[in-house]
Amino acid sequence: MNEILDLIVVGAGPTGIAIGAEARRQGLSVLLIDKGPLTAAIQGYPTFMEFFTTRDRLEIANVPFSIPDVKPTRRQALAYYRMVVEHYDIPIALYEEVLEVRKEGDLFTVHTRRMQGPRELRARSVALATGYFFNPRRLGVPGEDLPWVAHNYKEPYQHFGQDVVVVGAGNTAAEAALDLWRNSVRVTMIHRGAGVKAGIKYWVKPDMENRIEEGSIPALFNTQVRAFLPEGGIELLTPEGPRVLPAQAAYVLIGYQPDADFERRCGVQIDSETLIPAFDPETCESNVPGLYVAGTLQAGRWTDRIFIENSRDHGPKIVAHLKSRLAAVPAMR
Ligand SMILES: Cc1cc2nc3c(=O)[nH]c(=O)nc-3n(C[C@H](O)[C@H](O)[C@H](O)COP(=O)(O)OP(=O)(O)OC[C@H]3O[C@@H](n4cnc5c(N)ncnc54)[C@H](O)[C@@H]3O)c2cc1C
Repeated sequence: MNEILDLIVVGAGPTGIAIGAEARRQGLSVLLIDKGPLTAAIQGYPTFMEFFTTRDRLEIANVPFSIPDVKPTRRQALAYYRMVVEHYDIPIALYEEVLEVRKEGDLFTVHTRRMQGPRELRARSVALATGYFFNPRRLGVPGEDLPWVAHNYKEPYQHFGQDVVVVGAGNTAAEAALDLWRNSVRVTMIHRGAGVKAGIKYWVKPDMENRIEEGSIPALFNTQVRAFLPEGGIELLTPEGPRVLPAQAAYVLIGYQPDADFERRCGVQIDSETLIPAFDPETCESNVPGLYVAGTLQAGRWTDRIFIENSRDHGPKIVAHLKSRLAAVPAMR
């Protein structure tokens, strides 16, 4: 592809799709590139999850999310966002990873890797909408990459009759622990803090705390994981001293963070403490003119501050700003 596009969007999640749809609505040439399938992050969520956001607040690009239920399931959301892509006929390159973005003069060169090999694409602007889901936080202890240790929870059914450990005490960890327990799995929660995290969903918190209090889900707080053992079992440091807890499966669910190194490779300045990128909230433009950051990426480490519901205006902001830039510098077209 030798064409110079108006906009390349990195990431085909809800944010990237919203940007792509707006670009199409405004008559700009656009390409979405994703290293995985369409809406890869949502595909990776627990199989039977229900969004906490109501359907109207997950809508993008003026396409009605028309289902009878108030809160969509993961499956309904997958169908909805695919339909938006089809409705606007948004050009998409899937299973193609963007390695870096370089600005050369007024244009950007986007370096990618796909099955057929590397390629370079050129565009007048680039929007990064890469989310956080594929960068789970890790404990950094021995054995974390053993096959029975996972950083993503899907379903309880394979664990019937097993001892399973959930590390973490936020939303994802609490919801996984409850789901496992409700499906007859012996589950233990381990957290380095003193209790279930204060900020978790108000309807999940009492459910979790009551299960702990009644002993249905044992919880070890103020406890650190030292190692996952090759033959199963977890070495812990509890307030009472070291111990080994039997386990045939473990889920390390201690949050996610954006890939700051990738953003830096694209030229974006990132605060090393917060991982928040430099950007103008009015336009989503980063410190590099014509390079935008969008969606949950804008929140850095605080992935719970910006989500689909409250970032749906990023697409229209980016496209409006890009259009005014293109109009102001006709030589760019
Ligand atoms: C279990 C769970 C439940 C949630 N429920 C809700 C809810 O009810 N309401 C709500 O508003 N939010 C919810 N969220 C948060 C919401 O899903 C995210 O905020 C949202 O997915 C962010 O969308 P995004 O498009 O910015 O990022 P993502 O959906 O994460 O998409 C980013 C895309 O970028 C791609 N990518 C990354 N790096 C590259 C690269 N280098 N090259 C090419 N492609 C790349 C990834 O493959 C991915 O497809 C939930 C999150 C979780 C984990």
